[in-house]
Amino acid sequence: MPSPTVLVSGASIAGPTTASWLARAGYEVTVVERFAALRDDGQNIDVRGAAREVLRRMGLEDAALAAGTGEQGTVFLGEGGRELARFPASTDDTSGPTAEMEILRGRLGELLHDHTRDAVRYLFDDQIAGLAQDLDGVDVSFASGREERFDLVVLAEGVSSRSRDLVFPAASREYLGMVIAYLTIPRQDDDTDWWRWYVAGRGRGVNLRPDDVGTIRASLNVITETRGLDDQPREVQVAALRRAFAGAGWQTDRVLAALDDAPFYLEDLAQVHLDSWSTGRIALVGDAAWCATPVSGIGTTLALTGAYTLAAALAGNTDHRTAFAEYEQRMRPFVDKGQSLPPGVPQVANPRTELGRRAFGAVLRVAASPLAAKVGGVAGRFTTPPADKYELPAWPAA
Ligand SMILES: Cc1cc2nc3c(=O)[nH]c(=O)nc-3n(C[C@H](O)[C@H](O)[C@H](O)COP(=O)(O)OP(=O)(O)OC[C@H]3O[C@@H](n4cnc5c(N)ncnc54)[C@H](O)[C@@H]3O)c2cc1C
Repeated sequence: MPSPTVLVSGASIAGPTTASWLARAGYEVTVVERFAALRDDGQNIDVRGAAREVLRRMGLEDAALAAGTGEQGTVFLGEGGRELARFPASTDDTSGPTAEMEILRGRLGELLHDHTRDAVRYLFDDQIAGLAQDLDGVDVSFASGREERFDLVVLAEGVSSRSRDLVFPAASREYLGMVIAYLTIPRQDDDTDWWRWYVAGRGRGVNLRPDDVGTIRASLNVITETRGLDDQPREVQVAALRRAFAGAGWQTDRVLAALDDAPFYLEDLAQVHLDSWSTGRIALVGDAAWCATPVSGIGTTLALTGAYTLAAALAGNTDHRTAFAEYEQRMRPFVDKGQSLPPGVPQVANPRTELGRRAFGAVLRVAASPLAAKVGGVAGRFTTPPADKYELPAWPAA
């Protein structure tokens, strides 16, 4: 019997993880990535709870911890840079705004790619142009002109997945009303290894985070009713950010000054909601299926656990329909929890009014107090996403 074949589209987090486990299950795996090389951009991401266990089962946990950003914790700053509350980095698998496993997205992607490159065929600089499935397989035409048939296709293309639009045109995007601009800026002598989150008022936040390569990862958050900024040219985005953050105080001007030249990326936060994550022989995983957005703190955790769960279901069932149903039945409650943000997020964390700023400061002080772990509730939920609310299935016996 020839090995079953699968095409995985997207080589970030969910794609290579799915590819790794499907190769282990005996699939002949091809990964296609639309960029010409592995993307090394992105900022600090958290790996929590069951996702740590996925890396452990892949033998990558120690390498991922060793490649961490070294972030010591999160400190929230109010007017004039005055400290509001401080959360030291977590020392367990799941809790805190700074997780024990904080790693640059590009580094984790690289680890996953290195782990899979010998067992998986990677095609860079190409992408799916057409998908036609019948009862026995999926005919894939690529933008390069290549044509190939696979038994299964898994789309792991992130929140803006184009191939998803070919097969799930009804996927709905729920915008959260917030834009984040990410940029990498030079590190200064007075920078620290803490994530400094300046609550600037008028719906704005300025973040400075350490990395392990001697630069600072900055981001500008702004609550806005304007949509479509992410589709605009960079100069339009930069002008809009300069207008929105003018006079915001603290280290804002330093970040605004870097906007012209720094590596830069802007995202209009949207969750993806779908009634089903598969159709026929094509399945979705990671942000392409259920993006929870960066403010959830759980996107990478869902991507790693979802990838493992999908592959485990396919490894344990010869019928892909049964496997896809099992994958969805296991992951759906976890994804629902991850997508359900604490009340008022992201607006409450980026207050517009002075009253809102004071109320957020009060929530933070409660959340940072020793009592918070006991009382839980909104304050606890604000800093700790529900990453421990999932039990990974065992890997099926051969
Ligand atoms: C460059 C980048 C930077 C990021 N930075 C941050 C960050 O700073 N903070 C944060 O919380 N999250 C960030 N994320 C998102 C984070 O990686 C995801 O939320 C999470 O890890 C889920 O990963 P994913 O693999 O499902 O999707 P993603 O990480 O979004 O990866 C999708 C992959 O698919 C590729 N792709 C897209 N379309 C196609 C196509 N048509 N054909 C082939 N390949 C395609 C993309 O190039 C990308 O490599 C970033 C993602 C990317 C791609």
